[in-house]
Amino acid sequence: MFDLKERVAIVTGGNGGIGLGMARGLARAGAHVVVAARNAEKSANAVREIERVGGRASAVNVDVADETSVRQLIDTVKTTRGRLDILVNNAGINIRKPVHELELAEWRQVLDTNLTSAFLCCHAAYPLFKAAGGGKIINIGSMMSIFGASFAPAYAASKGGIVQLTKSTAVAWAKDNIQVNAVLPGWIDTELTQNARKQVPGLHDNVLRRTPAGRWGTIDDMEGIAIFLASRASDFVTGTAIPVDGGFAIQG
Ligand code: NDP
Repeated sequence: MFDLKERVAIVTGGNGGIGLGMARGLARAGAHVVVAARNAEKSANAVREIERVGGRASAVNVDVADETSVRQLIDTVKTTRGRLDILVNNAGINIRKPVHELELAEWRQVLDTNLTSAFLCCHAAYPLFKAAGGGKIINIGSMMSIFGASFAPAYAASKGGIVQLTKSTAVAWAKDNIQVNAVLPGWIDTELTQNARKQVPGLHDNVLRRTPAGRWGTIDDMEGIAIFLASRASDFVTGTAIPVDGGFAIQG
């Protein structure tokens, strides 16, 4: 039920953090993982890391905010692997400023990288999913899909948008046997949040206090949900947004 042998997966931003955790999980379940990000050296290291745990992977350079680059990614996967079964829209950034200090260019950069990217990847990948007779799309949201934060207006808007994009895509493509779901990670220890801890005073301890599990998440915590949402086990699950957060979202 969780077997992903013969499946091909793209993980955007799969060269580090949550993307690498998910890529590792998919590879352990048997999928060939295409690590898609900008930093080629980091991607090569991620491929080695996946191979070290017995998985199969390759790297393709992409800027997910650029339509031409996304088309090239999908074309490369079509040519080199012949199919696509799983797409994880994970690449993301944050620019931490309150709304009155955020420049329009910064707003656009965050929206383009976190939200428009998912639209571009889904749009370009659709013919390959149709050809494969179905597919699995996993969009990465955030606790900011649900909550607001003074320092994250563009980020929260992009992550709220991810949930609504997920629902509309799920409805449109259900007839094509394509399941589209969002994952809402809690606070996970990655480069992104190491920077956040430097920029937001008290964040580390606040997260510990607020998270019922009493700890920050690790990228290993992201493997299981990726396998579930990419496998036959979730064939009747679509359009949902699943928190993976140690209970952060249900703390009263
Ligand atoms: P990281 O900063 O560790 O990883 C971000 C990844 O995105 C990198 O692999 C980076 O690779 C890639 N990336 C960024 N911009 C682009 C671009 N334009 N084109 C292609 N790839 C890009 O962050 P996380 O692992 O923490 O975050 C991953 C996702 O999870 C993001 O969407 C984030 O919003 C979300 N998230 C994270 C949480 C956390 O606690 N860590 C909580 C909730 C959500 P490269 O630089 O090589 O392009």
